[in-house]
Amino acid sequence: MCVTVLEGYDLNSISIATLASHSSLQIFHGAKQEGFKTVAVVVEDRLWFYKQFSHLVDYFIVLGSWRELCRRDVVEKLRKLSAVLIPHGSYVEYVGLGCAENIEVPIFGLRKLFRVEADQWAKMELLQRAGIPTPMLFRIGEDVDRPVIVKLPGAKGGRGYFIARSSQEVLQGLRRRVEEGLIKSPEEAMIQEYLVGVPAYYHYFYSPVLDRVEILGADIRYETNVDGLKRLPPQVAVELDVEPSFIVVGNMPLVLRESLLPKVLDYGIRFVNATKRELPPGVIGPFCLESIISDDMEIRVFEFSGRIVAGTNIYVNGSPYSYLYWSEPMSTGRRIARELKMAIEKNMLEKIIT
Ligand code: AMP
Repeated sequence: MCVTVLEGYDLNSISIATLASHSSLQIFHGAKQEGFKTVAVVVEDRLWFYKQFSHLVDYFIVLGSWRELCRRDVVEKLRKLSAVLIPHGSYVEYVGLGCAENIEVPIFGLRKLFRVEADQWAKMELLQRAGIPTPMLFRIGEDVDRPVIVKLPGAKGGRGYFIARSSQEVLQGLRRRVEEGLIKSPEEAMIQEYLVGVPAYYHYFYSPVLDRVEILGADIRYETNVDGLKRLPPQVAVELDVEPSFIVVGNMPLVLRESLLPKVLDYGIRFVNATKRELPPGVIGPFCLESIISDDMEIRVFEFSGRIVAGTNIYVNGSPYSYLYWSEPMSTGRRIARELKMAIEKNMLEKIIT
């Protein structure tokens, strides 16, 4: 998809559209702060909820199901409103990869990255090629010689993940998940070395207009039941035979030791450079690296997102880091709108949409 997606667009009345879910309220709020009209693409049963925020939404496009996004009439409505679509963490999961990457509406972000993100192995390879330290990976059949976390595909918020200590435990766990219908075959899973330390998730923004990478915030996820296990005396956990699980229920703010920031920013820059090299023009706007920091301050990245992540919702009024760049409340949603505004003013729109 190239800039022909902008054909017929009125550059003086661009609107910002997204699926009403995930981080959409933040995106609409930020868009309004920067003076844009907003479009909420919403499924019928959620319309009542988003209507509570109608001061943030100028137009609602109501669908029976998310998969209708690519229907001709829906695309035409979006184009009529000169809408730029903001893909967030639920976008590909909801509309499907085919629609997500082929929709004939300008996207703020890198379409080519959706396909990489849908493939857990390709994702980890991109991180490795960026020169970012990652956990060891194992394939089914390979000898698992240390504790591992076994991850199922798709953005299901950690559902079905488990820890195993041997190849046999990996296979047993995966067979059970096949029986439960969570996956079709064990080969779909990704097996990663289980990293010991604390989790930390960094929110970045790459600005093609300013050609710089900004750290807009950081968060920790609150995951049940792994975070809850701390509340149980270890012997009770053993008695109850509780296995850790990793289902996200929310996010908490995190401010990092300042001495960690150079490394965190360096990883962000490496990621941007790798995407520029491997998937030109490279990542555009928000992305996130998910890491574990060990007690020797080593940061290893086990996952990334090429879009706005839900953890940014903590900072609707800006974060300690975004304030340092902008000296005004700057959420990721607002930063997207600001980039769009600057690109329009500088006649650089083709640099930030694909
Ligand atoms: P993910 O779906 O990759 O974001 O992982 C969900 C959760 O599992 C993370 O937020 C971490 O708590 C945990 N996790 C994922 N990968 C690892 C790893 N390699 N080592 C330790 N914990 C992990």
